[in-house]
Amino acid sequence: MSIDRLADLVAASSRIVAFTGAGVSTESGIPDFRSPGGVWDRFNPNEFTFQNFMGSEAGRRRYWELGRTTFPVIRRAEPNPAHHALVTLWRLGKLDCVITQNIDNLHQRAGLPVDRVIELHGNATRARCLACERPYERERIQEWLDAGVAIPACDPPCGGIIKPRTIMFGEAMPRVELEEAERRARASDLFLVIGSSLVVYPAAYMPLHAKDAGATLAIVNLAETPHDGQADVVVRGSAAAVLAQVTERLSERPSPR
Ligand code: NAD
Repeated sequence: MSIDRLADLVAASSRIVAFTGAGVSTESGIPDFRSPGGVWDRFNPNEFTFQNFMGSEAGRRRYWELGRTTFPVIRRAEPNPAHHALVTLWRLGKLDCVITQNIDNLHQRAGLPVDRVIELHGNATRARCLACERPYERERIQEWLDAGVAIPACDPPCGGIIKPRTIMFGEAMPRVELEEAERRARASDLFLVIGSSLVVYPAAYMPLHAKDAGATLAIVNLAETPHDGQADVVVRGSAAAVLAQVTERLSERPSPR
């Protein structure tokens, strides 16, 4: 069975890099983008671009209208067994880092140290003034939105545009994170994709960088991905169930002397 093969590969590895997408957090109650009922069934992505946000007050008003309804979903979500299993792998000294496309902060909330999580698309729990760079907790912005503020602005006298620390559509990817992710992917012995459709680039190049540098590639996902053909093992299943089984099997093995 593919899950046994995955458990064997994890047992034999010591520099695992996990690459996670929205699918690792659906079992925490945060919908992904592309599954039926996902975010793109309800909103038009073309409306929520960086250019629309920066270009007009109307664009920012529309963005924050959506943000006011989506942030509570992230705020009430709890890490699930898949997030916890990755922390277990880190504690066992097997996991180098997690490269994530997610913006939900759940890997850190599960217990992974901040420096073990490379966020390619930013983090929705924080915001920042684009003029003076003053940081804001997204929680505080939510209080303003709930009190009727339509477009949050930096405290006086600055008054600058506040933007969530997520990478919006049309916005440049974070160069430092991207370079670090590629470096760690290439240094991994097992590259473990969990819950990603692998269609959003340049993030989706990461498994190919890893494979190119000699890593074993494993993919755990409910649906097919374009990189399945290059994977050494594909497990078609729920991230939480599969990862929990893998760590359970590891704990049943005799520890190496
Ligand atoms: P995606 O929506 O394109 O794909 C998610 C994949 O996960 C799908 O192939 C789906 O079949 C699979 N999946 C769903 N539930 C699963 C489960 N329980 N177990 C295993 N697989 C499961 O997501 P993506 O590849 O991350 O890329 C889309 C973009 O969406 C990313 O840029 C990310 O920033 C953003 N996003 C993030 C969140 C979040 O932070 N939680 C949520 C939605 C979207």
